Amino acid sequence: MYQFKDDVSFAKNLDQQDPLAPFQKRFFKVENEIYMDGNSLGMASKDAQESLLTSLEDWKKEGIKIWNTKDGLYFNISRLIAKKTAPLLNADAQEIIATGTITANIHQVLATFYHPTKERYKIVVDELNFASDIYAVQSLIELKNLDPKDALITVKSRDSRTIATQDIIDAMREDVAIVWLPSVLYRSAQLLDMQTITETAHQRGILVGWDLAHSMGAIPHDFKAIDADFAVWCNYKYINGGPGASGGLYINKKHFGKKAGLRGWFGNKDATQFQLNHTFDQDIDANGWLIGTPNIFSLTPLLGALQIFEEAGIHQIRQKSLHITAYLMYLIDHKLKPFGYTVGNPREDQFRGGHVSLEHEEAYRISIALRDLHVIPDFREPNVIRLAPIALYNTYEEVYRVVEILQTIIVDKLYEQYSINRGTVV
Ligand SMILES: *Cc1c(COP(=O)(O)O)cnc(C)c1O
Repeated sequence: MYQFKDDVSFAKNLDQQDPLAPFQKRFFKVENEIYMDGNSLGMASKDAQESLLTSLEDWKKEGIKIWNTKDGLYFNISRLIAKKTAPLLNADAQEIIATGTITANIHQVLATFYHPTKERYKIVVDELNFASDIYAVQSLIELKNLDPKDALITVKSRDSRTIATQDIIDAMREDVAIVWLPSVLYRSAQLLDMQTITETAHQRGILVGWDLAHSMGAIPHDFKAIDADFAVWCNYKYINGGPGASGGLYINKKHFGKKAGLRGWFGNKDATQFQLNHTFDQDIDANGWLIGTPNIFSLTPLLGALQIFEEAGIHQIRQKSLHITAYLMYLIDHKLKPFGYTVGNPREDQFRGGHVSLEHEEAYRISIALRDLHVIPDFREPNVIRLAPIALYNTYEEVYRVVEILQTIIVDKLYEQYSINRGTVV
């Protein structure tokens, strides 16, 4: 489908034609370093820096008055970020809040929607999901005095990389209350068929929640069509909101009015919040799921970061992301196969996310060697190097260089100088 050449001038030519190229200079690219880890922690941008520093200045000037300054910008910051996030989800801003971490937000949605009965009490997850999601689900099951051994259904992978839609559907028995899945699997980058899975679950009376960690900011979503019940995501991966940036939570408007499982004063209606009554008066939309005071400095970088998405457009971002990752796969197939490298992610555009899952039996030591050669990838056990050329700030030429370096690491046996013992945060 794509026509590529193994030639650096071809890569440079693609960069010249790239309509997103002007965005590169808005990011703090480090000289002589190729950053390929935007799927773990997105790069800092000048826009995010500016919106963060403005909030710092406002704190310095205003003190406690910061909550009322600028028409309540900081008091209502979740609402403002929701507005800027809504186009990425194709959801209403009222269905979105900016808060918490992925894991904390999973606790919130399950505390809200998981009401097991004798007949319906099971939660379906997949065996390839990120551990933290599973810990959260297990703990919620235990909080209901149930045993995860009985109440948790884990859909197995047939190939240790992907999950078959049919296997998920087969797990949707009549005792299932909730299906909790990632949109894109963190290791293999498989993009699940969210529409079919959600529709099928709903036909069977099952609620569906999605973890959008690896699709938010990489892939356009259509939540008006998918009609999922709830979703969570982080804003520090593809959204570039900064390390530990506050995350996001979506509650389908059909569930407005349902009592939040975890309640706090920021979920109270604005009009009565400061009366501090001991009767919770829940806000009418997703804001009812807020808990406490907004983490201002983990939220304000998002104002700048999301401005870039507004200008670039998520469809254009996805288009380049598919193209540049296809180029990376082409070069891997073309140049790196003889050196033991293989592509582990699905090949079809509609089934893959924003990163390439590069497999090699020496993946760990290669990933360390890459860092010493100023290429920043990440490594996931047991044998995966994740490479994410990001549409907003990576170039085709960088992709070309990374593949050359991957080849050199094997040809010159550079990885052999490193220990196989794992460090932390690789
Ligand atoms: C990144 C990621 C997380 C991280 O959770 P936090 O609570 O934000 O630290 C959780 N789940 C998935 C699937 C992820 O990709």
